[in-house]
Amino acid sequence: MSMVLYNDLTRTKEPFVPVREGHVGFYSCGPTVYDFFHIGNARPFIVFDTLRRYFEYSGYEVTYVQNFTDIDDKMINRANQEGISVSELADRFIAEYYRDADALGVRRPTHAPKATEHMAEIIDLVSTLIEKGHAYEVNGDVFFDVASFPAYGVLAKQSLEDLQSAARTDVNEQKRHPLDFALWKSKKEGEPSWPSPWGEGRPGWHIECSAMSMKYLGSTLDIHSGGTDLTFPHHENEIAQAEAATGKTFAKYWIHNGFLLIDREKMSKSLGNFLTARAALEKFPPRAIRFFMLSAHYRSPINFTEESLIQAQSAVERLDNCWSDLQHAKKNPGSKEGGAELVPLLDGLKNRFKEAMDDDFNTAAALGVIFEGVKAINTFLKESSEPDLPSLERAEQFLRSVDSILGIIGIEEGEAHGDEGEIENLLKERETARRERNFSRSDEIRDTLAARGILLEDTPQGTKWKRRG
Ligand code: AMP
Ligand code: ZN
Repeated sequence: MSMVLYNDLTRTKEPFVPVREGHVGFYSCGPTVYDFFHIGNARPFIVFDTLRRYFEYSGYEVTYVQNFTDIDDKMINRANQEGISVSELADRFIAEYYRDADALGVRRPTHAPKATEHMAEIIDLVSTLIEKGHAYEVNGDVFFDVASFPAYGVLAKQSLEDLQSAARTDVNEQKRHPLDFALWKSKKEGEPSWPSPWGEGRPGWHIECSAMSMKYLGSTLDIHSGGTDLTFPHHENEIAQAEAATGKTFAKYWIHNGFLLIDREKMSKSLGNFLTARAALEKFPPRAIRFFMLSAHYRSPINFTEESLIQAQSAVERLDNCWSDLQHAKKNPGSKEGGAELVPLLDGLKNRFKEAMDDDFNTAAALGVIFEGVKAINTFLKESSEPDLPSLERAEQFLRSVDSILGIIGIEEGEAHGDEGEIENLLKERETARRERNFSRSDEIRDTLAARGILLEDTPQGTKWKRRG
């Protein structure tokens, strides 16, 4: 069965059929880089990166584009407050973005374009819209003419009249229609500006995403995503600009993540109720944050509490324990074929994992399936006195493959350390010391390892070790 995605354009689940077979062109609206991002912003970064990984796992080649908005009012105000240039501010917070996003296991996009580096594409698109009668210039400002585009409201599922009465009255003498929006803004004193056919100025926010997405993905994208607050007007305007210019469908599937809430309110900079990803990472392991984000369906709201993060942390520890128990068992495998039940069970679970992910990327259900697998592996390890190597490897492969998508088990971390041999040697030395009743040496080894974040557990099957969360 192929993947089914809920398309906000049709408000139904639709089979995923890409423009080009085997390829996914995927654009996700990225951050405005005027500050650290908060864990509400982290939700789209994490979930859409995970969806990208799932497409890759399913055999697609994915071109994933996530932009940086590096020029807008917020950028200008913040740069003025700090007494630095807008581009210095952008450089700083792009670096901070990568520091936190990397820590959260968000893979870097194929392309991460900045608006300020795409002025030529933006100006071209605005010029085309003017030529085609979809935009007009007034005193150096250029506006999109919503009345010229009959499909305006296609994503919001509202007519121009309904949208107009719902919209706050936007008093601007220059505009023909209150919903007309700026494609180009004429320069104001003290603001950065770029030359254009309409004089010095800067682009509007919506046009940058249309211009940059089409530059890297062509005129029809497979998927366009962002937080649900971007549906209107940002994404509606992106559709209008792109389709009015090209006459082609701009994006086949529009997907939006639900809000991350705190005390039942949207987490946002303006409400001041936010926790930066940086602060969250100081308190909780990154994989616990990922687990928390993926534990709800991406379209549902998710409520952030300390308690939910603590629960996510203990869930991740259960996964890590299963992984390290498997590694331990593999060191001393038995010869009995103990996996007669385990192997087919894991095969079934792998299929159910795929079914959950194929069903509109249901990571919550997929996590449930993984825990069924963990339970089966734990039982196998406990009940089989001589777990055989092929079954252990099959169990390892199950965890490894689901984790290549979700990034919640400490597999790579353990392997990246490359010090397992040394730890095993110290453990052997400790066992000898204990046999010889040399407890001061055995305690010394335990303390040395603890200082390196390695925790020991003495079990009837020998001493197990794991890295601290
Ligand atoms: P911004 O930097 O404000 O443009 O936001 C970057 C991304 O985060 C956008 O896709 C927003 O829709 C999304 N976003 C902002 N606040 C939240 C929230 N509380 N929960 C989920 N997504 C959010
Ligand atoms: Zn955008």
